[in-house]
Amino acid sequence: MSNQLLVPDAHLHIGDDQLSQGSGGVYEHVYSATGEAHGSVPLAGVAEVDAAVDAADAAFKVWRAWDPADRRDALYRLAKLITANADELCRLAVLDNGVTYEFAKHGPRIAEEWTSYYAGWADKIEGQLISSNRQQRDLAYTLAEPYGVVGIIITWNGPLISLAMKVVPAIAAGNTVVVKPSELTPYAAEHFMKLVREAGIPAGVVNMVPGGIDAGEALVRNPKVQKVSFTGGPTTARKILAGCAEQLKPAVLELGGKSASLVFPDVNLDYVAAVAVYSSIVGLSGQGCAMPTRLLVQESIYDTMIEKVAAITKSITLGDPFDPNIAAGPVVNEAAQTRILAMIERAQTEGSGTLIAGGGKPGGDLAKGFYVEPTVFGDVDPQSEIGQVEVFGPVLAVQRFDSDDQGLEVANSTSYGLASYLWTNDLKRVQRFSEDLQAGGVYVNGGYPLAVGLPFGGLGVSGYGREGGKEGIYEFVRTKAVAIGSGG
Ligand code: NAD
Repeated sequence: MSNQLLVPDAHLHIGDDQLSQGSGGVYEHVYSATGEAHGSVPLAGVAEVDAAVDAADAAFKVWRAWDPADRRDALYRLAKLITANADELCRLAVLDNGVTYEFAKHGPRIAEEWTSYYAGWADKIEGQLISSNRQQRDLAYTLAEPYGVVGIIITWNGPLISLAMKVVPAIAAGNTVVVKPSELTPYAAEHFMKLVREAGIPAGVVNMVPGGIDAGEALVRNPKVQKVSFTGGPTTARKILAGCAEQLKPAVLELGGKSASLVFPDVNLDYVAAVAVYSSIVGLSGQGCAMPTRLLVQESIYDTMIEKVAAITKSITLGDPFDPNIAAGPVVNEAAQTRILAMIERAQTEGSGTLIAGGGKPGGDLAKGFYVEPTVFGDVDPQSEIGQVEVFGPVLAVQRFDSDDQGLEVANSTSYGLASYLWTNDLKRVQRFSEDLQAGGVYVNGGYPLAVGLPFGGLGVSGYGREGGKEGIYEFVRTKAVAIGSGG
C-alpha cells in the first residue's frame, strides 16, 4: 500500500485514555475509491459512552474554572495546529469518505476560521444588566452559563468542519463535550483529537467515541448530558428528540435540505450554469446539506440553461480523488451508491423528469469504487420523489417556472428549509424573495459561503438552532437571572 493510503489507528478517546477496543465491536473501514478494506475502527458501546460522559462531567469543573482568556488562547493554538496539519487533514479526509483532495482543501481552511472565530468569543460571552427591575431590586442581571456536558453527534460528509462548528463553540463557552463521529469517517476526527491534546486542552474536555446507533442513543439518553447538538438526517433527528424528550433535554438539529436555486434572465448564464453544476453534483459528489440540488430556471432561459448545464456535466471527470485533474470522486460507501442509483432508476421508471446527463455508474477502472455519474434531470415534476426528497448524491433536478409567484411556490414546496439561492440583479426581486423564501438562509448571486459570522441552520425538516456567528456560541450557554435586593 502506498504511504498516501496509510491510515492511522483509530481510538476511543475517553479522558486521559486512548482505547483500541470498545464494547460496540469493530467497523471495517473501506476506502470508497477502491472498494478495499483498509482499517479497523473500534466502536464504543454503552459502557464507553457512559465512561466518556463521566470523564466530561469531571473535566467540566476544571474547564469551567479556567480563565476565559486561557480557554481563548488554547483554542487559538488549536487553530494554528489545524493550519500546520492541513496536508495531513486533507489526506485523511480523502481516505475517510472519498472526497477529492482538491475539495478537501476547504476543510482545514474553514475549520481554522471557525476555531479562531470562536476562540475570540471565549472571553466575550456576556450577560445583561436589567435596568427595568431597578425599582424593586437594587441589582438585577443575567449570567450566561455553560450547560455542562454537551453530546455531539455528527455525520460523515465533512467531519473536520463539523467538529470545528460544534466542538469549538461548545468548549469556548466553558462546556465539555462527548463527540460521537460517524463510524464511517474516523480518521480526520482521530487527528483532530491529537491536535486537541497538543493545544493543551485538558483531558476530558473533548472526548471522542466513534460508534454506531447504539452509541448515539446512549449519549442522547445519558442524564448527565445537558444538551445535544446533532448533524444528520431528519429520521435520526426524530429518534434523538424522542430520547431528549424523556429528560426534556434541549437540542440543536442541523439536518438535510432540498435547496432551490432560482435563476432569472438578467445574470451571466455561463457563470451560473457552472456554479449550479459544481456546487450541487461535483463537490463532495453532491453529499452536502446546503447544496442547491433543485435548479429552478425562468421559462425564457430554460432551454439555454439546460444545454449549458448538460454540457458542463458531461465534461466532469470522475476518478482517483488524489488526482488534482479529477473533478469528482466516489460517494461515501456502497450503501450510498446503491441507494442513489435506485433513486435515479425510480425517477426514470416513474417519469419524474427527463434524463439529461449521467444516470449510471462508471465501468472500467472505477467499477470497484463507489462512483455515481453526475446526473441531471430536466423538467422535473416538483411533486415527484426527486423533486421533493434529498438525494444526498450527485443528482440535480432542473425545473422551469414562469412568474415570480410560481417560482416561489415551487421553491417553497418541499418540507425542507435549509438554504435558498437566487440569481438576479433586480433589487426589488431580491428583497421580495429574501423575505418570501422559506429557508434558514438566502444566498444571492453566489454559492453557499459557510461564513463563520453568518448564522447557519434550517427550518421545517431541516431542523432548528444555529451554528455560526453570535447565535452559534449562545446556543451553548443558558441564561440565569440574578436579582440582588436590599432587604434582609
Ligand atoms: P444519519 O442521521 O443517518 O446519521 C448521522 C449521525 O447520527 C451518525 O453519527 C449516526 O451514527 C448517528 N445516529 C444514527 N441513528 C442514531 C440514533 N438513533 N441515535 C443517535 N444517533 C444516531 O445521517 P447520515 O446519513 O449520516 O448523514 C446524511 C444527512 O446529514 C443528510 O440528511 C444531510 O443533509 C445531513 N447533513 C446536514 C448538515 C447540516 O449542517 N445541516 C451537514 C451535513 C449533513
